Formats: sequence, C-alpha cells, structure tokens
Amino acid sequence: MTVTRSDILALLAEIEAPFGGGTLADRAGEDGVSVAGGRVMVSLAIHGADAIRWEPVRKSAQESLQDLDGVTTVMVTLTAERAPASAPVASGGSAQARAAAAPASPRGIPALANVRRIVAVASGKGGVGKSTTACNLALGLAAMGLKVGVLDADIYGPSMPKLFALKGQPRIAEGRTLVPLDAYGVKVMSIGFVVDTERAMIWRGPMVASAITQMLRDVAWGDLDVLVVDMPPGTGDAQLTLAQNTPLSGAVIVSTPQDLSLIDARRGIAMFRDVGVPLLGVVENMSYFICDECGKRHHIFAHGGARAEAEKLGVPFLGEVPLDPVVRERSDAGMPVTVTAPDEPAAKAYRDIARQVALALGLGKGGR
Ligand code: ADP
Repeated sequence: MTVTRSDILALLAEIEAPFGGGTLADRAGEDGVSVAGGRVMVSLAIHGADAIRWEPVRKSAQESLQDLDGVTTVMVTLTAERAPASAPVASGGSAQARAAAAPASPRGIPALANVRRIVAVASGKGGVGKSTTACNLALGLAAMGLKVGVLDADIYGPSMPKLFALKGQPRIAEGRTLVPLDAYGVKVMSIGFVVDTERAMIWRGPMVASAITQMLRDVAWGDLDVLVVDMPPGTGDAQLTLAQNTPLSGAVIVSTPQDLSLIDARRGIAMFRDVGVPLLGVVENMSYFICDECGKRHHIFAHGGARAEAEKLGVPFLGEVPLDPVVRERSDAGMPVTVTAPDEPAAKAYRDIARQVALALGLGKGGR
C-alpha cells in the first residue's frame, strides 16, 4: 500500500498540539510534510522555548506514523523557525528538548551517547569533492582500527549510498531507531534514505538542519570513535544552524586549488570559527594531475596556494589529493580508492589526511 500526504495529514489532524495550538497538521502546514515512497518526514513549527515540552508529542507522533501501512521510515522534527499562525517563534530548536537528558559537549550542546567525536566535512560550494573526501576519510580512519560511522547530511545531493555501493534501506530497530547500513566496516546512514531530497530542496535552512540533527540522534550508531558528517555544501542558513546545533568536535574544509584563493572556502572557515567549532584543517582536492603517459605531476592550477592560504588563515593544511580518474571511476562504482586501490597516490593522501585528523581529535596513537 502506498502512503500519501493526505494520509499523513489526516493522522496529524487527530493529534492535538500542546498548549492549545491547534493540531499537529496545523503545525506542519503546507511545507512541513514530505512523502517519497514509504519515506515520511514531518517538520512541526514550534516556539523554541517550548521544545522540551514538545518532545514527548514529537515522539508519539513519530511512533503513530510509523504504524501506518506503507510507511518504511519516518522522522518528525521540531523546527523553531516558521511562525505558526497563532504566534511568532523564537530561535532555539529541538536540541533543547534533549539537553536535560544528555551530557553537554564543550559548546553546551548535548553529546551523542557512545559517539566520541563528530567531524564535519564541509565545503564552500558543491562539486569540489567533499563527499568523496568524507567517504575516504572515514575509510582511512577505519583502517587505523577506529570504529567509524558516516552520516550523509548532504540533503541537496546525498551520495554516500553510491560511494559505498549501498543498495538496501535501513531497518527500524527497537526504540524506533534507524539501523545504519554497513559498508567496508563503516556504519553508513544517508539523509537520502529518510527524506524526499527533491522536496527538501525547497525547505528553509532551519528545517533542513532540524531534520539532520534529529537524524543524528535517531540512528542506532552503537559505539563509535568517530562519526564523519558529510555536510550540505555551502555556508547558508542550513549549514550555519547545523554547525551551531550539532556537537561537532571539529571541521575539515575541502576545496579545490582555485577556490581556496576565492571567497567560498574562506566563508566556510569563518562560519565554523563564528560558532566555535575547531578547524581541523583544509584539504586541497584535485590538487594536481598525474599523467598516465609520462607519470609526471602536472599542476593545472597554481601550486602551493592552498597551503599558503591555510597558513594565512591560521588553519592546518591537511594535504593535497591528486585529480585522478581512478578516484572518479571507483567512486562511481562504489569502490572507494582508499580500500580498493590502496597504492594509488590519492589513497595514500586520504590515509595521511585521516591520520592527521585522528591526531587532531586525540584519537591517534596513544589517544584511544
Ligand atoms: P561534492 O561532494 O563536493 O559535491 P563529490 O565528492 O561528489 O563533490 O565529487 C564531485 C565529482 O568529482 C565526482 O564525480 C567525484 O568522483 C569527482 N572527484 C572528486 N574528487 C576527485 C579526485 N581527487 N580525482 C578525480 N575525481 C574526483
């Protein structure tokens, strides 16, 4: 049986919002329900200050929707952004709802139980190799013997299912948590499994951010040393809210050489700085090209600029990844170079970057 938006809205219309705010259907409004196949996502507009009192309602709505015929995965989030008809909304969000229950991270955001470090992989714009880096960084960290997960939060173009050759859908475990899939020894969850990403394109930043923060907490990650989050590209509202509301231990910025001297990567660095997330460093992707014929390195773009720019900005430079057709071919085939072509210069570069990131996170030798 196929579930429709009307089915979802009908069920939400039966649930009263707390504090006399109409029904949950009113709180979801036109934009707040997305259905794709059996994947259901609901965003409820609330006052930020009410998040704690809303949390049980959110949970029980999620459970009721999960029981509807045709629903495979469902996520209900609280978003303190759109003003519901009756009243304006303060900033804040669902993170507050869980603040009481979980230990606080250094920035005062509740940490994830059993996940020691969370690292954002970000870029100032799309197409620079952010997802490829996130995937290979995760595999490099796993090769060091660390327990690693990847959250594909790139709602504008989730690519982890392809990069890790994942075909299945996540299971729902006890407690209604989603069970991540396993690929090459890494636990992988993608926002693409949960949300209709086409529809999410039109969501405002805070709706995107609350979907991702909710997802972070509704996944049964188990014990992890590091969770790598592939961020949505850019530095808009969604990215800023995510950086603010996620208990990040640090961020890695991916850039191509020509962009680093431009404004995009700098904006990414500034964004994380503004919200107090430590910058673990900059990766220069597609840094140089190794010619098949002559075997020489060709610096297609000016060389050394990224390192100099990173130094100027006071951010560590993590290394250069060559532009290598093998990277693209293997990425498209779901066979990441770090594990399937470990002798490629790109694979070595990713492993070296992973070592530096682990050290910066205090997870290197002697850090565990
Ligand atoms: P983003 O996440 O920044 O949008 P992707 O990681 O999806 O970027 O990469 C964009 C495209 O570039 C993909 O086709 C990918 O395979 C390719 N690519 C990324 N890094 C490299 C590299 N070092 N060498 C060759 N191709 C690459």
